[in-house]
Amino acid sequence: MNLTRESFRNDILHHLKFTVGKDAGHASTYDWRLALSFALRDRIVEPWFASTKDTWDHDHKRVFYLSMEFLIGRILEDAAINLGLKGIAAAALMDLGQDFDTLVHDEPDAALGNGGLGRLAACYMESMATLGCPGYGYGIRYEHGLFRQRFETGQQVETPEDWLNQRHPWEFERPESNYTVRFKGHLEERHGRTVWVPGETVIATAYDTPVIGWEGRWANTLRLWGAKPTTLFDLERFNRGDYTAAAEPETLARTITRVLYPDDTTYAGKELRLKQEYFLTSASIKDILRRYLEAHDDLTELDKHVAIQMNDTHPALAGPELIRLLVDKYNMTFERAMEISQNVLGYTNHTLLPEALERWSTWLMGTVLPRHMQIIEMIDAAHQKANPARPSSVAIVRNNEVHMGELAFVMSHKVNGVSALHTELVKSQLFPELTKLHPDRVVNQTNGVTPRRWLKLANPGLAKLVTDTIGGGWEADLERLSELEPHIADAAFREAFMAVKRGNKVQTSNWMKKVCGLNVDPDAMFDVQVKRIHEYKRQLMNVFETIAQWHEIKKNPEGDFVPRVKIFGGKSAPGYAVAKEIVHLINDVGRVVNTDPDMRGRLQVIYPANYNVTMAEQLIPAADLSEQISTAGKEASGTGNMKLSLNGALTIGTLDGANVEIREHVGPENFFLFGLTAEEVLTRRKNVKHAREAIEHSQALKDVLQLIAEGRFSPDERDRYHGLVDRTWNSDYFMVASDFADYQRAQAEVDEAFLDRDRWARMAAINTARMGFFSSDRSIRGYMDDIWGAKSAL
Ligand SMILES: *Cc1c(COP(=O)(O)O)cnc(C)c1O
Repeated sequence: MNLTRESFRNDILHHLKFTVGKDAGHASTYDWRLALSFALRDRIVEPWFASTKDTWDHDHKRVFYLSMEFLIGRILEDAAINLGLKGIAAAALMDLGQDFDTLVHDEPDAALGNGGLGRLAACYMESMATLGCPGYGYGIRYEHGLFRQRFETGQQVETPEDWLNQRHPWEFERPESNYTVRFKGHLEERHGRTVWVPGETVIATAYDTPVIGWEGRWANTLRLWGAKPTTLFDLERFNRGDYTAAAEPETLARTITRVLYPDDTTYAGKELRLKQEYFLTSASIKDILRRYLEAHDDLTELDKHVAIQMNDTHPALAGPELIRLLVDKYNMTFERAMEISQNVLGYTNHTLLPEALERWSTWLMGTVLPRHMQIIEMIDAAHQKANPARPSSVAIVRNNEVHMGELAFVMSHKVNGVSALHTELVKSQLFPELTKLHPDRVVNQTNGVTPRRWLKLANPGLAKLVTDTIGGGWEADLERLSELEPHIADAAFREAFMAVKRGNKVQTSNWMKKVCGLNVDPDAMFDVQVKRIHEYKRQLMNVFETIAQWHEIKKNPEGDFVPRVKIFGGKSAPGYAVAKEIVHLINDVGRVVNTDPDMRGRLQVIYPANYNVTMAEQLIPAADLSEQISTAGKEASGTGNMKLSLNGALTIGTLDGANVEIREHVGPENFFLFGLTAEEVLTRRKNVKHAREAIEHSQALKDVLQLIAEGRFSPDERDRYHGLVDRTWNSDYFMVASDFADYQRAQAEVDEAFLDRDRWARMAAINTARMGFFSSDRSIRGYMDDIWGAKSAL
């Protein structure tokens, strides 16, 4: 593909004129952005076709990644980088009087996910394409992705996100690829067979987005399902004048793909959510079988050619749906169908939090999916029969509920956790009995992040320094970052490394000025905690520490303090009152701290609204300190921790999730560890007075709670946080009090290290150099080898 600046300029102009329908004299930024996107998309189509053809020709095993969430972010710059066309595109646009960065920043985030789980799916799609793993992502084309967050008087307010109000240039609508998805109705016995007579139907219709890998060598498809009514109107009702009822099929279809559920760690049990999950699963499984049967006729060999991965239990109906189709449509025996389905399916567990584990009442499951309820009971009985030692306490159906974790476990040949620690806890705490029956089933695949987006795109300064130092190629071979290590001894390299960091901080200071209206000193320590707001992630502990620091400065206004900017980012689920209270507190503390003249040059709190992938790309390269402070045993892996460390931030963290492995890789001397271990948390929680005793032992924490209780940060409503203070004293399930003193101790060590600029530079550069393991390419290779049995087509 020999492309010049001139020919690409003509491509852009061509699309501006014939695809967008504008002439250059009247085109807006939006028009130019679309024209550029279409010109880039053209360059993806050929490798995309070639990949598809190669897969058919060689009958490669295909991997299907089913996920209710894909947190993609912007696509344009990522596509340009992977195609190797960023330079040419920028030059061509310059000739046209346009600025590449301006167009990049015009693109809305594709926010079809909540947080880590959805972003992981997006990183994995990109890595599969980079590695030439023939694969498809399947998801839902939500009309409204994750809500937008605003702050009003410090409180979170949600507004709908409407990315599809604009033209989405990356997708191809496939109206010919559609499947009828059925709900409700009843079962009938006909000629000794069970027949499901549905009560509601909708059509799932495909929208394909190509996903291009590094250097454009391979492209896969992300197929998102939209919903259409099976009949536009019930004509009979319409003619009777019953207009609302006549439009019911359309209403059902529209609601199914209308919104993403905005909770990431709680499970609500809502009928619409069950319908969404089945809608995704049913359309995808039918599409998989359709594709398979185009090239093969023996469904008993399905497992040789197909691997299906379930991202959490959300698509766990894949098991019953596959069995249903194999038995009811293709006349297979139940036993054979179950065995084949198990060989095909894999399940990734993402959480141990009990409130996040999906359970559906048998009544709802039986009403919405009567045939599946029957099949789930058959699966349960077959599993019990094959494993007579199985205790009834781990049955799939128990206490009138279907337990999706157990269903996914039983229906998969491999179940994986997402970090070494998490996988051990999956075995010992979540599924101990099932693991005893199936000792080889649970395996680990530690999460990773794609270095193309999270280093090359987000941090061009550091990417350039890396390339200048060790040469190119690290983008698809991240272990090569270790070649940086000998250069760290070189003072000039350390200076260059810190100059990149400072450049990023200056640029981010300007951005913060724009979005928050505050002047931020780029030489202060940027102390960053960005992630969903959740009690287990303990933003509260970080705010308490901020207050303690404020109090310390107030008591000693002439003292020497290491200047810090506390940067927060993250959304609370709309119905999660305690998390919203934490959002409010961060903003309340921020107002007091940021207007206090004693804090000038010492302490600031910045909380820009609406954290998303694009904001992550802004903040992470500018971070000095990465806050990964979850209660041990609660964060399954984390991926934000990896992005930050890769970009040269030092971590202050607990022994939780992938922090454990990050610390092993970067070395304990380059990681600020504190806090109870997962085991110690369990022991300590048995002492009902754990919080009270910890607070009595820490004058600093006692003062913090007293200041909050007095209303020092909420003078307009002094008792605003009485509930929060009371819970901290009396329950504190997430052990903020018990870990606080050790957290403060570790923060003091951070200050000391930061004062020694050169020591800090070494530690930060070592973090980058030793993060090669955490590439999502390594994760995907692990899945291909240990779970999917898939081979690279490259
Ligand atoms: C990486 C990422 C996450 C996950 O962050 P954690 O700290 O691992 O919870 C969430 N949201 C966005 C936008 C991300 O980019």
